Amino acid sequence: MSGTHAVFHGILDFCIQKRSYQFPPPARQRMKNENGMVYLVGAGPGDPGLITLRGAQLLSEADLVLYDGLTNPLLLHLTSGICERTARTRIGDGRIMPQIDVNQRLVEEARAGRTVVRLKGGDPCIFGRGGEEARALEEAGINYEIVPGITAATAAGAYAGFSFTDREASSAVAFVTGHEDPAKLQSQLDYEALAKFPGTLVFYMGLGNIERICAQLIEAGSFADTPAAVVTQASLPRQRVVTATLKDLPAVVAAHTLTPPSLIVVGECIDLKTAVSWFDQRPLAGQRIGITRPADQCLDAAALISQMRGEPVIMPLIQILPVEHDSVSPVLNELTTFDWLVFTSVNGVNEFFTHLWESGRDCRALGHLKTAAIGSSTASALKEHGLNADIVPEKFRAEELATALAPHAGGQRVLWARANRGRDVLPTMLKEAGADVTECVVYRNEDVTEFDTVTAAGLTNGSLSWVGLSSPSIAAQFARLLNHHGIAPDQLTTRLVCISPVTAEAAREQGLPVSAEATTYTWHGIVEAIVAAESANEPSGS
Ligand code: SAH
Repeated sequence: MSGTHAVFHGILDFCIQKRSYQFPPPARQRMKNENGMVYLVGAGPGDPGLITLRGAQLLSEADLVLYDGLTNPLLLHLTSGICERTARTRIGDGRIMPQIDVNQRLVEEARAGRTVVRLKGGDPCIFGRGGEEARALEEAGINYEIVPGITAATAAGAYAGFSFTDREASSAVAFVTGHEDPAKLQSQLDYEALAKFPGTLVFYMGLGNIERICAQLIEAGSFADTPAAVVTQASLPRQRVVTATLKDLPAVVAAHTLTPPSLIVVGECIDLKTAVSWFDQRPLAGQRIGITRPADQCLDAAALISQMRGEPVIMPLIQILPVEHDSVSPVLNELTTFDWLVFTSVNGVNEFFTHLWESGRDCRALGHLKTAAIGSSTASALKEHGLNADIVPEKFRAEELATALAPHAGGQRVLWARANRGRDVLPTMLKEAGADVTECVVYRNEDVTEFDTVTAAGLTNGSLSWVGLSSPSIAAQFARLLNHHGIAPDQLTTRLVCISPVTAEAAREQGLPVSAEATTYTWHGIVEAIVAAESANEPSGS
């Protein structure tokens, strides 16, 4: 196994097999229903996998999410609440929302009975004005809770490979504001104290002031050759780390084009010779990868891609929509009459259980049933609801599932929890094997009608490296959308990777060029196939 693959498997176990951001069906627990509640939640530094479980759960329960400019928008897929950005600097036509208005808004929304998540980059209380917001809520008598987040500094340390409190180098770490009014001649910072500080200094919001910060530290007594670094976009795919001595750092930084946000780190914990980190060695650096799953299910794949240092691009081709409970409840009332319960997608599992709970039942109502799942992801989803699948075929194909079930199906009543559309191989083969099959549509699956303009352009201008196609219907839908945008398959600069041979065949039938095929039929397998294709392209020895 090559080095890259070894890394990859480690992450896989952590990230995908434990699909851990599934919470029990919405049982909203509010302290005071009538009065609403505000949660000041740390979004973490950028990598969407670095939000806390508590933060993710609260997002899934929020009515309104007010997020700041440092929050990774991917996290908004965790909520079905209304999302609004509050910005302190203008981006495009974006509105600037003064802090006092944010405070006021939080109070008003909570008074209207809403559950509000105030989502802030990093930790809400580290240079994040979380304290001011908490005070405003306190004064207004609103219930609130603060959920900490991973602050940019600790992420920068971890992802750039510096240990701020390395026992050999430093016995303390200080987080310092680098944001000072350039018009003021006198700094508000006590540089003498900072120069004497027995450890690592991390300056937030300091890039614009870097010359002044480095010069003042040296003037106050820091050694000019103290190791220093700037880390931009810590934990994000475009993370950059620039190192130099304290004296040279401003000039070295000026020679690079760095995109904010950035931190300045000063201290012996930075080793100028070996400033290479595990994150730099991740195999998808520089790759932008389109995830075609429905938007609310892309977070696992996005987190996996980010961890590999690729950049996930959410471009859902289909939408998953719920069905009315009344259309499912008659079948749930007859559960005792079935022998088998069969699932062919993760959505099918989750939506089935949503209806089961909504009907007042739980998995005890399924105790007498044998279960079958089309593949490992579907089986894991089932496991999260407390059930083991009795049958999971080796290959993720309806034919394989039907073949595995057929010997047990004669004279049995089989319930298939399905989407409104899809292949009919399964019921046809099971009926031939003598089963009595009931098909229950537990969710709808609808096509998206066009790509957004940036995505459409990315398909032919080289900026979108790969797109993953995860079912034959998604492959067909991708071909339709290309046609809609007037893009011929041979104009694609994006390479296509398919989840399985069946999907690859469907893609080729549509005239699409397929560059890679997963051997494990999951999104994890798709990412693995991209890594394999990219490492096959690397010149040997690199
Ligand atoms: N509450 C945030 C900090 C907000 S102040 C936290 O705990 O991280 C904004 C500053 O944070 C930026 O100017 C930059 O200095 C720093 N910052 C935030 N995210 C960053 C990131 N991903 N990489 C580097 N610096 C970051």
